[in-house]
Amino acid sequence: MIKAKGIATKAPQEKLAPFSFERRDPKEHDVVIDIKYCGICHSDIHQARNEWGHSTYPMVPGHEIAGVVRQVGAKVTKYKIGDHVGVGCFVDSCRTCSSCKQDLDNYCLEGHTMTYNSMERDGSAITMGGYSDVIVVDENYVLRIPNSIPLDKAAPLLCAGITLYSPLMHWKAGPNKKVGILGMGGLGHMGVKIGVALGAEITVLSHSDKKKDDAMKMGAHNFVATQDPENLKKYAGYFDLIINTVSSADINMMDYFNLLKLDATLVALGAPDKALSISPFPLILMRRNYAGSVIGGIKETQEMLDFCAKHNITPEIEVIASSQVNEAYERILKSDVRYRFVIDMASLK
Ligand SMILES: [Zn+2]
Ligand SMILES: [Zn+2]
Repeated sequence: MIKAKGIATKAPQEKLAPFSFERRDPKEHDVVIDIKYCGICHSDIHQARNEWGHSTYPMVPGHEIAGVVRQVGAKVTKYKIGDHVGVGCFVDSCRTCSSCKQDLDNYCLEGHTMTYNSMERDGSAITMGGYSDVIVVDENYVLRIPNSIPLDKAAPLLCAGITLYSPLMHWKAGPNKKVGILGMGGLGHMGVKIGVALGAEITVLSHSDKKKDDAMKMGAHNFVATQDPENLKKYAGYFDLIINTVSSADINMMDYFNLLKLDATLVALGAPDKALSISPFPLILMRRNYAGSVIGGIKETQEMLDFCAKHNITPEIEVIASSQVNEAYERILKSDVRYRFVIDMASLK
């Protein structure tokens, strides 16, 4: 077994603390990765605190992993020692269902194996995530990080980046398309950068105008402070696509359905812990669509990384030591981060 150091939580109310554990020895198709950086995703907090109700402990969270290949299994062909690589939200899937066969392994019909808080498909162990110094992953679920993207900035692309790239591609954001990005956080700011690079007209819909300067610097074309409902009125029937990155349920979806054109789509990415109450009327009257999307497949995640390298797109990050993770969680809950925390694993003790 391979010795690993990390930080873990042992119960929903407990803080994260240093933790030693073991990773499996590499099998034929496994890659052993020295983790250099791991981003902090809002869903790490939901799972560390069992807010979705399926958490197991001890838990090492983290699914925005960037590092360097330490060792490869005997039959690995895609990677070699020293390569810059990443791991995102899942580390395995059934590989045989109709979704997996179409490179939509993020929608595996048997459920993909999450990078942490998930049972390995052979039942051997619960997966442990990226807040650690080493991970062992099948080469088919490892991504290549282009050398032009520094590893600390690459980390958040593995969840936040692909979570926005996939729906922007699926709903064809591009020239002559008006796209609204609802929420300007870790996810939203990636939506702005990727959407701008795709050539779409990007409008940020954010609670207040605190992040307006940032959004405009990132290339957004319009910025709407949604706290004053009057500001939304002039965008009635305006958008081809709205991507909702807000995970709070305290948002009136009806206000946003009305901003869509005929046949346009509002995509939910954030996962609120409460049900939303909506009326179908604004959907019915303009044949609008209300859809959802979750991360992206491995093939599309690689495309996203290559796209970001080509267009010089990286997230805005704040690098922290592993001892600052609990404090970072509190700051995320107060929206006090611009725009993603990334843990430097050299700080692990
Ligand atoms: Zn995530
Ligand atoms: Zn599958």
